Amino acid sequence: GLDADFVVRWLTAAAAAVDREADRLTELDAAIGDADHGANMRRGFRAVTGTLAEDPPATPGAVLALAGRTLVSTVGGASGPLYGTLLRRTGGELGTEAPRVSSAEFAAALAAGVAAVGALGGSAPGDKTMLDALVPAAEALPESFDAARRAAVAGALATVPLRARRGRASLLGDRSIGHQDPGAASAALLVTALAETAA
Ligand code: ADP
Ligand code: MG
Ligand code: MG
Repeated sequence: GLDADFVVRWLTAAAAAVDREADRLTELDAAIGDADHGANMRRGFRAVTGTLAEDPPATPGAVLALAGRTLVSTVGGASGPLYGTLLRRTGGELGTEAPRVSSAEFAAALAAGVAAVGALGGSAPGDKTMLDALVPAAEALPESFDAARRAAVAGALATVPLRARRGRASLLGDRSIGHQDPGAASAALLVTALAETAA
């Protein structure tokens, strides 16, 4: 089963990956957005690791809920409320009581979290957003963490030829074509960190 420590280790690995890749995320956002995605993600995930190190909750659901609230309150871009919703809803599905959850329960909760992102953003796969990585990852997760990682990475790369239909990049119309979506790239980092933590 997966416990609170597993989720803390995942989010800590995600924060390290975001830190390492922040410049690349910002470069992707410079091409089709406002060049702040790396900084937004770094600020948010540094706050998450700080909060979790200070006062780690005892259950996986409570860790995710706290991390989600922290992202919402520290990231002032579209990605803050979206990733915050992902983690809060995933945590809410798990509940705050269970000290361990099965991989199947975790996969179902993450699928609900991803669905909540789509509901908040009014977005779906094909719109050239983080959902192009998150939805295939959630669909593959019942198979394995590594299948989810592969699906997220492939989904992020597959945003390159798409025309953005949501978020800032949609203002560019056809000029958004030919660039990877920054949020899809960061989502692939988070799912890769998840698979590495589970390995
Ligand atoms: P901002 O666009 O406010 O500067 P960020 O640069 O941090 O915020 O995040 C941009 C990313 O957020 C996009 O690359 C995209 O993946 C994601 N995003 C933006 N709007 C939506 C939406 N409506 N639904 C899903 N994802 C979205
Ligand atoms: Mg931006
Ligand atoms: Mg911005």
